[in-house]
Amino acid sequence: MNNTEETILILGAGTGGIAAAHELSKKFGKKHGSRPVKIILFEKEENNVFAPSLLWLMVGKRKPKQIYRKTSKLAGHGIELVTGNIEKIDPANISVTTNGKTYQGSYMIVSLGVNQAPECELNLWGHDFYSLEGASNFHDAIRNFKGGKIAILVPSLPFKCPAAPYEAAMLVEAFIRKEKLREKTEISLYSPESGPLPVAGKQLSDGVRQIMGMKGIQYHSDHQLMSATERTLTFSNGSTFEYDLLAYTPKHSCPSVISETALIGKSGWIEVNGSTMETNFQNVYAIGDNTFIPLHVGKPLPKAGVFAHKQAITVAQNISKKISGEKPDKTFNGEGQCFLELGDGKAGYAGGNFYAFPAPEVKMKSPGFLWHWVKIWFEKYWFYKHFR
Ligand SMILES: Cc1cc2nc3c(=O)[nH]c(=O)nc-3n(C[C@H](O)[C@H](O)[C@H](O)COP(=O)(O)OP(=O)(O)OC[C@H]3O[C@@H](n4cnc5c(N)ncnc54)[C@H](O)[C@@H]3O)c2cc1C
Repeated sequence: MNNTEETILILGAGTGGIAAAHELSKKFGKKHGSRPVKIILFEKEENNVFAPSLLWLMVGKRKPKQIYRKTSKLAGHGIELVTGNIEKIDPANISVTTNGKTYQGSYMIVSLGVNQAPECELNLWGHDFYSLEGASNFHDAIRNFKGGKIAILVPSLPFKCPAAPYEAAMLVEAFIRKEKLREKTEISLYSPESGPLPVAGKQLSDGVRQIMGMKGIQYHSDHQLMSATERTLTFSNGSTFEYDLLAYTPKHSCPSVISETALIGKSGWIEVNGSTMETNFQNVYAIGDNTFIPLHVGKPLPKAGVFAHKQAITVAQNISKKISGEKPDKTFNGEGQCFLELGDGKAGYAGGNFYAFPAPEVKMKSPGFLWHWVKIWFEKYWFYKHFR
């Protein structure tokens, strides 16, 4: 071990970036022996949204201000925050340029999530519930809704949080029922997927399909959107749907600042070692939604905060070990869990090992009030832990 300064660049202060910075600050935030370690966290947004709560915002269970915190609160405890758009990443030199200034590091963790954009002009006709503004506007619209046809639409794959559109449909159904509009309202979910959460296996997928069926939600799998107008969705199989209110997921792509580098793989995402999250560049790691990890089942690991979080801890611990002159022996094992909001204050809890051979082994625990409350607790805990 020598005494030169080590600098760890963390790109993106979303789920993965925050978790990595926190883990590293536990180790290096206070003086670490005689060796100075700098942790620099880069983020473009001034407000940091807790994405799972967007679903509650849609149905009035949260106000916009309740689900974000100031990004500036992430600074401190050994974490230096640089706010601004990352303009350039140079993985070979482990450097990043923001606001015209280049920062050089000894380690880099890339966690820039996905670029979200509307397609088929859906932004003209509906609400992108994957954004604070879209989820909030959807709530304004549903508050004034008097009955009719509501569409929850997944226009393209991949999309983060495989459960979110299904949760959105079930929360909307509960809201409409409470407003005594159920008899006058048809709720439909359209997706190009073969079924709900297909990567999690047939048992879980069938279970979610069944729950939606019991709630009278019309589910249309294998429906690829072709075009949209003010009232009509048209799908590639020729079918159409006339809607009165529309909530949709945006098109996801890898942020262009990554696509412009040699980090990008054939998949259009960063292809990492699925155990260590190492990229093709030494001491450069990528975690979370901007990565692509193929599973035995032929599909990629879903994009979800739980994976970004666990991968962040693995990478942070391995970097800590390297800096301390130890062997980096931590691995991400493909395990993940998620809550599934069902409406009426209830939720399910599904989890398992997505790296299992020949297919992910994922099971859902009996749905009930408990999991909903655990999800609320997690929201509060996340804010308390990182934004004090
Ligand atoms: C409605 C909804 C519900 C969800 N529910 C769940 C759930 O219940 N469980 C779960 O596990 N996951 C859930 N997710 C998914 C989860 O939010 C993401 O998978 C997770 O946030 C991914 O973490 P990340 O660090 O990879 O990316 P992000 O959290 O998206 O962070 C990326 C960060 O990088 C920043 N950034 C991007 N480009 C630049 C740039 N050029 N310069 C500077 N900064 C930049 C972004 O502003 C962002 O803050 C949900 C998502 C949505 C939309």
